[in-house]
This record gives sequence, C-alpha cells and structure tokens, in this order.
Amino acid sequence: MNIKKTIFFILTVAVSLTAAGHRWGDSAHSIGLITSKGGKARHPAALQSGETGYSLIATATVIPPYKGNARVVLEGEPKLDYKIHLSAPVVDLKLHRKPELRDDVLYDLQPSDRIALWVLMKPPVLDPVCGMSYTNEFSKHTHEGKDYFFCSEDCLETFRQAPGRYQNVGVRGKYTLAFYDTITGNSVLNVPVIFKTKEDTHDAGGHHH
Ligand SMILES: [Zn+2]
Repeated sequence: MNIKKTIFFILTVAVSLTAAGHRWGDSAHSIGLITSKGGKARHPAALQSGETGYSLIATATVIPPYKGNARVVLEGEPKLDYKIHLSAPVVDLKLHRKPELRDDVLYDLQPSDRIALWVLMKPPVLDPVCGMSYTNEFSKHTHEGKDYFFCSEDCLETFRQAPGRYQNVGVRGKYTLAFYDTITGNSVLNVPVIFKTKEDTHDAGGHHH
C-alpha cells in the first residue's frame, strides 16, 4: 500500500467512524469508479430496513480520461430526505487535489481524483398501519425502543393488537446513488443502495439470483 492509499484509507475510516458515532441507524460503505462511460460500484450498498436514519460512505476514483462536474442524486421511491457531504481531509497533506461539493454537484473532478461522500438518509415518517404521511396531528407511540407515529386512535389500536406485523414498515427495495456529468447528462457512476428487511437478509445467505 503506497502512502497516498494509506492516507486515503485513514481518512475514509475516520469518516466512517464519525458516521457510526452519529448513531444514525444502519450504515454501509461502497467503492466505485467514475468513468465517462458510466462507472459501477464494486458491490451494492446494503442497509437494514426499518431504521429511522441511514448513512452511506461512498468512495470513488475518477478514471482517466474523465474530467468534469458531476451532479449526485439519490434516486428511488418513495423519496428520502438526504444530505450529501464531501469528506474533508482531517489533515491536508496536499497529496490530493480537492474537488468541491456545492448543491450536490462535485466540481472539477480530474483523472485519478479520489472522493469520499457521506450520504445521510432519512425515510419519510409514515403511519405504519394506514401508510399516511406524517402531519402535526399524529401521535407518538414507542414500542421496543422505536418510535411509531399514528394518524388516529384506530390505527394505534390496530398496531397495539399486532405490533409484529408492522415492524418492517419503512424504506425497502432498491435506490441508486447516481452521478451525472452536468454537461453531457451522461451517467458516470451508479451505486445501488438496497434496503433489506430482516426476511430479505435471511434469504440472502446463498447469493442466488
Ligand atoms: Zn392511520
């Protein structure tokens, strides 16, 4: 491992630890390549469904000859609230140039740049029984350390009678952290972000397709 790789690894771990210290539900890490022909992540980022928040550390290397600005979007339904941060080096050793992130656009990516994005995601708050979106009228109920919100006494009562049925309500299925060149509109990196329920996780042992 050369010195640049070592430093980058340390920075990435530092960001990961910061994210973990945030106690934001589940977290995952992905490694990808940014290329003009549409880069791919080495593997999808898998997150456990049913949390109130998630964090993803997405690291990527820019493959020559790509250079440019790339917009970063978390795609998928229902829309999640999310915020993207570019990890700032803990110590600036001038080993890397530093692309900038403003309004979810990475500016001035150059061949061989390495970036680490920290994406914080929050699912929309829904009544687990009827699926209604949260309003101020909702009441809160805590079950096994988790907060649930209900539109009415009826929904709360239905939940109380069979809480197990509503444990996995929340984000599930496939999202994509997508990077698009701002000039051409071409995809330059796709990172699949998969929210798995406990059942999905149990099924996933054998890597069947
Ligand atoms: Zn309801």
